Amino acid sequence: MNVIDKRNFLASSRSRSYRRRAKSSIRNIAIHHSATATGSAEAFARYHVNELGWPGIGYHYVVDKQGMVSICHDLEVVSYHVGNSNGYAVGICMVGDFRNEALGYQQRESTLELTRNLMRELNIPVENVWGHIEFPGYSWKPCPSINMEFFRNQLREDGATSIGSGLTTPSSLYISGERQRTILTMGDQGDDVKALQERLMELGFQPGPIDGIYGPLTVDAVSRFQRVVSILVDGIVGPQTRAALKDFSPLSEQPEQGSPTDEPDDREELYNGETRRILLYIRPMMRGTDVQMVQEKVGAIVDGIYGPDTEEKVRVFQRKEGLTIDGIVGPQTWRALDRVQKTSAVSYQRLLSLQTPYLRGEDVRRVQRALRIPADGLYGPVTERAVRKFQQREGIVVDGIMGPRTWSRLFNE
Ligand SMILES: [Zn+2]
Repeated sequence: MNVIDKRNFLASSRSRSYRRRAKSSIRNIAIHHSATATGSAEAFARYHVNELGWPGIGYHYVVDKQGMVSICHDLEVVSYHVGNSNGYAVGICMVGDFRNEALGYQQRESTLELTRNLMRELNIPVENVWGHIEFPGYSWKPCPSINMEFFRNQLREDGATSIGSGLTTPSSLYISGERQRTILTMGDQGDDVKALQERLMELGFQPGPIDGIYGPLTVDAVSRFQRVVSILVDGIVGPQTRAALKDFSPLSEQPEQGSPTDEPDDREELYNGETRRILLYIRPMMRGTDVQMVQEKVGAIVDGIYGPDTEEKVRVFQRKEGLTIDGIVGPQTWRALDRVQKTSAVSYQRLLSLQTPYLRGEDVRRVQRALRIPADGLYGPVTERAVRKFQQREGIVVDGIMGPRTWSRLFNE
């Protein structure tokens, strides 16, 4: 099993962080698939943070098709992946869509090994290794779309982990040990260097071959990065550079290829919402389900992005409620919003477009019903064509994409 520690390199929110727990409170291991043909810890993290507004990636581990395991969070982190059960579950996501492809040998073996290590480290019996679908409230979700009985039998067979036998003292090396080097510099080698190179690559600072060796090309890429973010340019990764690497987001946010449609539902936020953020119009604009919630209540276009329109509608709301008019949703405005019902019956949730695999969901079905085409809940070519026709009729931009404008045309009249 090959492991890369990406804990310090994945996209994460600047303003929010996941709550933490004691390891002893962990009772379940949750197995997911990404429901996408391709993907990576990096792509899922960007999707969860930038699109869904979460504090960080939802999963603790991502296992790719070659069986490479990416560590994404400490086990103590309570991330979002199984709603109500997040507090006591660890999430492993296998890249792939096992509704229509088979789980390959390498990936299965790595996932089994990782799961066994976790069972030992956390003292979890095989009966508590569940597929996402087996968690309370998720019987409707085809995740991970593998036979979990079979998977558990494989866990039982091999490795023969009878809990508490004391025969195996696992090194927690893979899971939580392996102290990270605080400084990386020319000549260093290892998986942490590799993770650094992947992060540089992801951010568009080509570091040369991703080989885990901190050579001149890596030094060069680090230096270019440091220059761009205006910190000391020395080609060495210390705490400051590390933090900057973590926070840096490239200017162009193109739609994610690896966006998981193991789409964690909106309720994740409800279950986990601790303190609510203060929302305001800044750049880059704030996004998230909390923004959506505000938009629904003040009658703004519901796209989950706190832009000028939302700010204006919040001002109007504040005036009506006799609050300080500043366009900022702070504690006082939040409390006032709590007293208000949603204004629009239909909420625009996400941008719908033709993608591979097709986007699916209740929102797609709603669009299809409104367009009077078969409502199979899949945004395929038929749906796209129908959307184009509708856009043409309405005299708006014909792109086959359900964005905010098309949504409001389709539903608000
Ligand atoms: Zn899942």
